[in-house]
Amino acid sequence: MTQVIVVLNAGSSSVKFSVFAVAGADLRRLYRGEFEGIGTAPHFFVKDAGGATAADETISPAKEMSQEDAVHHVFAWLVSHSAGLKVMAVGHRVVHGGPVYSEPVVVDGPTLDALTAFVPLAPLHQPHNLTPIRVLARSHPGLTQVACFDTAFHRTAPLVAELFALPREYFDAGVRRYGFHGSSYEYVTHALRALDPAAGAGRVVIAHLGNGCSMAAVLAGKSLGNTMGFTAIDGLPMGTRCGQIDPGVLFYLMQQRGMALDAVEDLLYNHSGLKGLSGVSNDMRELLASDHPGARLAVDYFVYRIGRALGELAAVLKGLDALVFTAGIGEHAAEIRARVCRDAAWLGVTLDDEANRRGGPRISPEGRTPSAWVIPTDEELMIAQHTLRLLGGVSSPRKKGDDAR
Ligand code: ADP
Repeated sequence: MTQVIVVLNAGSSSVKFSVFAVAGADLRRLYRGEFEGIGTAPHFFVKDAGGATAADETISPAKEMSQEDAVHHVFAWLVSHSAGLKVMAVGHRVVHGGPVYSEPVVVDGPTLDALTAFVPLAPLHQPHNLTPIRVLARSHPGLTQVACFDTAFHRTAPLVAELFALPREYFDAGVRRYGFHGSSYEYVTHALRALDPAAGAGRVVIAHLGNGCSMAAVLAGKSLGNTMGFTAIDGLPMGTRCGQIDPGVLFYLMQQRGMALDAVEDLLYNHSGLKGLSGVSNDMRELLASDHPGARLAVDYFVYRIGRALGELAAVLKGLDALVFTAGIGEHAAEIRARVCRDAAWLGVTLDDEANRRGGPRISPEGRTPSAWVIPTDEELMIAQHTLRLLGGVSSPRKKGDDAR
């Protein structure tokens, strides 16, 4: 019987999952799948490690599918499809660990209560992340469940990096710059150390450029801060999110243009960023292939904001030893990487054009510092590794020592 760890990444309309075989301390991906279109057009598909389709089912839209049904469907498939698989534990991507959790944790009743208390900090995501934990606790009592937080990696950042210049009472109530994409940064940090131990031990800026985009300053493997803040809308422009914006714009939209709060939220989250600015698409492939002036402007703004953020994060690190690109755009858009690296010549960044076209991993000339890299991220594998590590022991959350501040 093959022992496996299942990683779940549950959102409002989809449950994504990966299945890893456990052999000692090694993990090998067996399947990756998704239950998408919850509430609209439910569709379930699974691919094996070689990319071959292992399941492809259109679920009758007549049936009301909830997120709970989707989780049951995933587990029913695991049991029925692979009688030889035994689920040892489930690792969950949970967006918010609040100010408390600086590392992954085995979830028991009190932990689930603590995580539920963070729902107001991420109302669009946290409830969906927690539902599968509750569902599995009921249907599979005794199954070890581990929560890995998008925020945890950044809890090493100094106090100044977490502050807003608001009266301190707001910080104490949880209004802080938390930062996100933590599992991705942690994975990439380990991968860089394996590729180049000296670079991994130095001053590194990682650019996670996917649908969601952020950049982090990492010193000797520890985050000193990142471009996202209290929520995952701050910082770089993204597929449909605006990134950094003057809060005065929000006052103007609501007071002078009479926009309701919901409409402003919808504008900033769903109709801005690359999509809003270009008027063409949120998909970088389409923008790069288009000669529409809006598409060119959106790409120019994207590259400009990455360059600004790079300067800011290099200042936090007091220099730069390595620049790493990851996630959909970072891994695949050679043109974006080339433009960012050329604009960063003032920091000493150089580009090996041929290596960049090949996709790295090293895209700067051998022996040059700062070096530049392309490192494909694997958040699910990072979560599976933490889950395996925590199996067999309930760890208490490490507190950051906020009380001492
Ligand atoms: P998510 O944040 O949802 O995980 P991804 O990391 O998959 O998203 O990144 C999605 C982004 O990557 C999209 O903007 C997509 O256009 C972009 N992308 C994927 N492949 C390419 C490519 N070959 N060239 C340029 N952009 C790409």
